[in-house]
Order: sequence, then C-alpha cells, then structure tokens
Amino acid sequence: ARPKVVVIGGGAGGATAARYLAKDSQGAIDVTLIEPTKAYYTCFFSNLYLGGYRSLESIGHTYDKLASDFGVNVVHDWAVGIDRDAKTVALAGGGSVPYDKLVVSPGIDLIYDSVPGYSLEAASLMPHAWKAGTQTALLKNKIAAMREGGTFAMVAPPNPYRCPPGPYERISMVAHVLKTSNPTAKIVVIDPKEAFSKQALFMEGWEKHYPGMVEWLPASIHGGIESIDPQTGEIVTGLDTIKADVANIIPAQKAGRIAEAAGLTNESGYCAIEPATMQSKVDANIHVIGDACIAGDMPKSGFSANSQAKVAAMAIRADLTGSNKFPPRFSNTCWSLIATDDGVKVGARYEAGEEKITSVDSFISQTGEDAALRKTTYEESVGWYEGITADMFG
Ligand code: FAD
Repeated sequence: ARPKVVVIGGGAGGATAARYLAKDSQGAIDVTLIEPTKAYYTCFFSNLYLGGYRSLESIGHTYDKLASDFGVNVVHDWAVGIDRDAKTVALAGGGSVPYDKLVVSPGIDLIYDSVPGYSLEAASLMPHAWKAGTQTALLKNKIAAMREGGTFAMVAPPNPYRCPPGPYERISMVAHVLKTSNPTAKIVVIDPKEAFSKQALFMEGWEKHYPGMVEWLPASIHGGIESIDPQTGEIVTGLDTIKADVANIIPAQKAGRIAEAAGLTNESGYCAIEPATMQSKVDANIHVIGDACIAGDMPKSGFSANSQAKVAAMAIRADLTGSNKFPPRFSNTCWSLIATDDGVKVGARYEAGEEKITSVDSFISQTGEDAALRKTTYEESVGWYEGITADMFG
C-alpha cells in the first residue's frame, strides 16, 4: 500500500505541504488534508481589505484544485486528537485517519484572557481579526459605522505573535480609510512592547500621510493594560482610561490547540522542531510547520510557513520514497502597505543551524525612499500574493 501522510490544517503551511507532497511524489504518497473550513481567507492582504484595496472574495480560496488536480483527499473536519502510538488522528465527526507521517500546521490560538476582560464572546464586540474572514468583515463594518471624530483603539499583541508588522500595517490601512471618511477621528495603539517591526518606516509614513492622527503608546508610557470593558468600550491602562468607539484587541498567542493536546508544545506554548527537517523534537513521525512551531530567526508569517512546508515535504518524501534530499533553504519577506503605492518590506534568507533556523542575510526598506521605489515594492507584494496562493491551492 502507498505510504500515508496526513496534514492537519489547510493554511499557508498545511496547504503548501499537502500540494507539494502530492505533486512531487506523483501519486506515490497518499495525502490527506484535514481542514474544517471550505473557504480559507488569507490573513495576508486582509489589512488591504480593511483599507479598501481588496474585496473579501479576492482573499478567499477553496480546496477544490488540491483534490481535483493533485489527488489530495480533503476532509472538512476538525482534528480533535492525535494518538502518537497508534499513529492515528481522531476527527470531530467521528472516526480516525491513520498516518505514517503527520504534518501539523494549525496556526495560532488566541489567549483571550491575556487581556483582562477579553474573551471569545467579547470578540463579537471588540474583534481581534487575527484570523481572517468574518472577524475581519466585522472590524471593517465597525470602522465604517464609527461616529464622527470617534476613537479607534488597538491593543497590540506581545511577542511572539503571527505577523510582526501586521498590527502596524493595519493601523496604516485604518488611517487611510478614516482620513477620507472620518478625518477628525483618532487612532490610538496601546502596545505591550517598547518597539515594533519596521517602526521607523511606519512612523515616518504615519507622519507623512496621516499627520496627527495616530498615537502609539508603548508600555513604558501607558503602564500596562489593567482591564477592558467590551460593553462600554473602555480600556483602562496604568496611565488613564481610553474610551474606544471601535476597539481591535489582539491578545497573546500560542500554537493551535491540537498541537498542545498532542503534547507537541513546550512551556513557550509553541512546538520545538529539528531545523533541517521541521520534525517535532518530541516525535520524529510528526513535522510541525508555520506559526505553531519555534522557527528560530524566522518570523511567524505566511511566507515562512510556505517555505517551511517545502522543507518538511522534501524530508518526508525522502523518508517514505527514497527521493533526493537537498540542504534545506528557507526565506521570508514581509511586505506592508502604508498608503496608496507606498509599500515597504523586510526579509531574510535562512539555513538550518544545529540548534535553530538561522538568518544568513537580511534586507529592509529605508526611510526616505522615493515614491517610484515604494510603488515597485508594493507591486512586488501583489505578485507575491498571486504566487503564494497558487503555490498553496494550485
Ligand atoms: P494558518 O494559515 O492560520 O492555517 C491554519 C489552518 O489550520 C486554518 O485553516 C485552521 O482552520 C486549521 N486548523 C486549526 N486547528 C485545526 C484542527 N484542530 N484540525 C484541522 N484544522 C485545523 N504573512 C505573510 O507572509 N505576509 C503578510 O503580508 C501577512 N499579513 C498578515 C496580516 C494579518 C492581519 C495577519 C493576522 C497575519 C498576516 N500574515 C502574513 C501571517 C500569516 O497569515 C500566518 O503567519 C500564516 O497564515 C501561518 O500559516 P499556518 O499554516 O501556520 O496557519
């Protein structure tokens, strides 16, 4: 019988892994993808949807081609348990799926109570929009309905979290919308950190495009978040109380709960892996990729997850079919849009070190770059979006 690989999670990591395993083994491996949703909305470019540059439909993708063109068995269900001795995955709908090798890519789960007063229920009043789809649409509607001169407040997440520049790209996109629709509105960022990704670039951009609109408060100024009230919109910090008309609460994060349930996480809440193969440090038959793993110098991004998926797929194919194995290469670029045609980026190439995935060279956009270069950078990101989604879903 053909060797069986099961992939949990059909996002940036899992969809890529399933497609590469099926495509490159040309049918020699039986690949099953377990993913509850029929349409996956990418978090990448979800900020551009908030900014009015993209429709929601344009960031939604289905699994049809993975099944029809690549022969992946797509099972729309939740994985609720992994029996590592029997090598089976239990499904919420009943039954279990056996595997020889398992890829785990469930993304993140939110630690709601890391922000006192926040909860799963509160997310319908104060959306996080840190998983894309209905949450993102809810946040967009709230911004559109905000009273004139109102306050949009974001509680930013502590490290480590999915997409380091994501909160600040979101602030840029919200400012872009409010500048026209509600020019006397205010934007406040209550950050548990003292610094953030591409900070100089964002700050320069906010001053240039949205002067006086955005206030960023690091922990040393606001003194910590004491509580939030989803009913009144009040956010109480050590410094004062901010009354938000629209609040976007992005709590602390950890690996998707199936990883924890299977005993794959450590005290950090994420999964330790072997850098050369993405194998779990606690189970060599399981590869953990994407946001759920501890990827050394790599940030938690869709680009990273896609890159890690290919390394894991190559290692699995080599193990199961004896195919060639090459030294793993990883790469990442995170683009952010600050205003129309004003794109910036940060990125690096990486290799598998002994202890961790290690950066070998890196680049970042510079402050003061001319408009033509920024436009080119934005256009690059549009090409990347088309490329990565084709690489994930076929
Ligand atoms: P995901 O893509 O989240 O996929 C996980 C999948 O697993 C989900 O589909 C989920 O339904 C499924 N799942 C979870 N639990 C189970 C279970 N028990 N059983 C079965 N399935 C399960 N990255 C970039 O590279 N570029 C960007 O510009 C960018 N912008 C971003 C902007 C925002 C606002 C946000 C929030 C993120 C952004 N990211 C970006 C980050 C990127 O979205 C994530 O890093 C990436 O999606 C991680 O891939 P993943 O496979 O680990 O998780």
